[in-house]
Formats: sequence, C-alpha cells, structure tokens
Amino acid sequence: MTTVTKNVKISGVGMHLGLPVNMVIKPSQKPGIFFRRIDLPNSELIPATFDNVCDTMMRSTQIGKKNGASVRTIEHLMAVLFVLGIDSAVIEIDGPEVPFLDGSAFELYRLLEKFVSDKTKMRKIVVKKTVEVKSADLIKTLPFWQRIKAAIFSRRITTDGFVKIAPYDKGLLIDAILDYNNKIIGTQSYSYMFDGSKSSVKDFVDNVAKSRSFGGYAEWEWCKKHGMGLGCNLHNVIAVNARWDATMNKLYYPDEFVRHKIIDAVGDMFTSGGFIYGWLQSYKGSHALNNLVLRKLFSDKSNYEIIEPKGAKK
Ligand SMILES: [Zn+2]
Repeated sequence: MTTVTKNVKISGVGMHLGLPVNMVIKPSQKPGIFFRRIDLPNSELIPATFDNVCDTMMRSTQIGKKNGASVRTIEHLMAVLFVLGIDSAVIEIDGPEVPFLDGSAFELYRLLEKFVSDKTKMRKIVVKKTVEVKSADLIKTLPFWQRIKAAIFSRRITTDGFVKIAPYDKGLLIDAILDYNNKIIGTQSYSYMFDGSKSSVKDFVDNVAKSRSFGGYAEWEWCKKHGMGLGCNLHNVIAVNARWDATMNKLYYPDEFVRHKIIDAVGDMFTSGGFIYGWLQSYKGSHALNNLVLRKLFSDKSNYEIIEPKGAKK
C-alpha cells in the first residue's frame, strides 16, 4: 500500500461551478482512494470506485450519490495518484468538485510528487478476456432526459464509438483515437503504456500530463450562461472557434486533444481499485464508456484475475 507522507492541501476552483474549493489529501491506513465532503454534515467516505460512479454526462466522472454527497471531476487527480502509485488516501474536500487548476494533470502531479510514501506494489487486475462496449449500447441505457443532456454536452451523439479492454501482460496500454469531421481535430491517435517503471512515469509527465480538455467556444458561452464551465478559462481549456478550424489559445501539442483522452482514461481505469494489466482501446471514447467497460469487465469473474500484492490483507 502506498499513501501520502503528509496532508497535502490543494486549493482552486471547480470546473463547472467555478467556486473556490479546498482539498486535503491525507495519509490513510486502509487500501483505496476515498473522498469525504467535509462541507456536508455527517458525510461518509465515498469510495472512488467504478461501481460508485453516479454520473459521467458532464464531461467528467462523478462519484457518490447523485443528489447526495458526491464529488465531480475526479479523473485527473485519479490519473496522478495512479502514476505516482498512491493506492491509499482519504481526500477531504469542502465542495462538490475537485479543483480544476491548469485543466490537466500536470499541476496536480507537481503538487503531489514529493509526498509519496515508500512504494509498494499495487493490487493487479489482470484482464483475461476481451470486453467491449459501444456508444450505441450506452445511449440505449440512458433515460430520455439524459439522452438530451448527452446530445447537448457531447455536441452530437456518436454511435460508432467504442471502448474495448483486452489481455495485455506488460501493464496498462492505452490506445486512444479521436475522429471528428472537422479541421482542427480530424483524426488523432495516441498510445501510452504504463508499466510502473520510472520511464513510464516520465513519459506521462513529459508527453501526456500537460494536455487539456477542449470545447467549442460557442458551447462554452452557452454553458456559462447556464451556470456550467464557470471555472474554465483560456489557460485551462482548449477553446475551439465556431468553425472548428482553429483554437483560440495556443496548443501544447497539435494532438493535445487526444493526449488529454489518455489522462481521462488512466484516471477512469484507476476506479477499478487497482493496476489494470490490459490493453484499452478507445475510439471516440468517453467517461461513460470507460465506466461501462469496467462494469462489464467486473460483471463476470472469468474476465479478470485479481492478484493481491504479497503481504496484503484481502
Ligand atoms: Zn479530462
């Protein structure tokens, strides 16, 4: 089990509400990543696990109870905890959203990297069989009002997207593809492999961590009028113009769009509660598909095998 060496306080504003939020990542003695909403009375620990994800529609992963104690936009923090090997922590937070900071994983990484306890191996989740989910299946499972919401927030509903997870024995390999009928993104792909080595951590920090999420500027204006995306600005989100042929701020990489998908996927895969040894292929993927593929993976014991690290209590 690996935790943090001291309380790490991180403050900022949330992506959607834009309100100040303080988060303290605390050392813990028990396995797992847990959040606690300290602004709510008697708030219990909220496990950051796939089966506790209550919403994925607002371009973020939300855990907890939809109309109760929940925390939104956990994915970038989860990605950073994963690459740092931190699999045990209690995260106290005084608002409903994780601080958005630079909109990527980079700042969170820099704030946390010096406070990692002696590393031990994580629980391994070895994928034994290929499991696949498609956007079309996902949309069918949504209630009517959520389909409408998905249409608004995803710009359009794509039905040919999929996320697939297949056996792979060297670590977590992620292949992400974006395929948009526009000039600025078009078709972009990126591959990242994490095997727990220092070089794979460095690869994440150097080539993936800084990338930000994106949105159309017109959509952004609409969201702000409706009280969403209030924490977004031209430093922490890539804003694309109305014709979708140019960005309004400078990109870190021409394919920054798809690199950000890697952060989201790494974070979402860590809601498995361990280190997935598998090959994740994501075509027009989303938080919703990432969550659905984990639900499908864990729905059948023959799909995976859990290997606890030596000396760990089950
Ligand atoms: Zn993201």
